[in-house]
Amino acid sequence: MVFTIGIDVGGSKVLGGVVDESGKVLATARKDTPRQGGSALTQTIAEIAQELMRQHTVACIGVSAAGFVSSDRKTMLAAPNIADWNGVDLDSELTKLIGLPVIIENDANAAAWGEAKFGAGRNEDHIMMLTVGTGIGGGVVVNGALYRGAFGTAGEFGHVRVVPDGHLCGCGARGCFEQYASGNALLRHAREAINASPEIARNLLARGDGTVAGLTGAAITDAARDGDPVALAAFNTTGQWLGAGIATLSAVLDPACVVIGGGVIEAGEILLAPTRQALERTMPFAGKHPSPRIISAELGNEAGLVGVADLARL
Ligand SMILES: [Zn+2]
Repeated sequence: MVFTIGIDVGGSKVLGGVVDESGKVLATARKDTPRQGGSALTQTIAEIAQELMRQHTVACIGVSAAGFVSSDRKTMLAAPNIADWNGVDLDSELTKLIGLPVIIENDANAAAWGEAKFGAGRNEDHIMMLTVGTGIGGGVVVNGALYRGAFGTAGEFGHVRVVPDGHLCGCGARGCFEQYASGNALLRHAREAINASPEIARNLLARGDGTVAGLTGAAITDAARDGDPVALAAFNTTGQWLGAGIATLSAVLDPACVVIGGGVIEAGEILLAPTRQALERTMPFAGKHPSPRIISAELGNEAGLVGVADLARL
């Protein structure tokens, strides 16, 4: 049995694990993500790897992080959300520190591969994964292999335009999918519902600090579970956008299943039911062919490290 290490760079934590060939995590290590990024982040990744290498003999290391990765999987070309990490040749810098071969992969691709091989999509060869958090990340598995595209940027579902001249997005374009169907969009839909009918929204506001600005996704989820009508309406609106977007994407990729991960999936069926309903309503040629199953991710926040540990082996 060959063991590999997967290390997932998140916004607040860097999480590493030793993973076996069946996707089982044998040991983990974690550190805070250094805010200054750059060589401090590379050093943090090396320290986590070294800590794990003291416990197990491993063959190679995979690192997953948000950003655009070179097609040879060695260099982080651009990491818009990480300070001072653009153009870092991680293979040579990390190999110098730890003496093992290293690959890097986009975090959404890594999570998609983890779910496809070991998680919710493990019996399927054609999978779309959407990680619905602050934004929407994505990954595509076609014929049982991760589809990276010519430049490694396939599956950037969050920036597919769904509304001409719609809300401004962090990517610089307008009307992107993630402005309507992400965790941040859930907050936007909730705030709009509150502003439209503040009397009905009093109970929901009381779950935060009482202000519209202080409302969190977790509070909306809790309220929706308790049947709060404004919170349920916000999830319904988010699910409608999500399902309609998935219908459009399915017309291109024809997946057997769509795995939904990320923070919003805490709400489970409260989000997935309206998502499925919108998919059925907006799917081109609905009823003339099977629709993809929309299911919850299973690996939680370990999907990225399990996926990238396996990709390092390939
Ligand atoms: Zn965008």
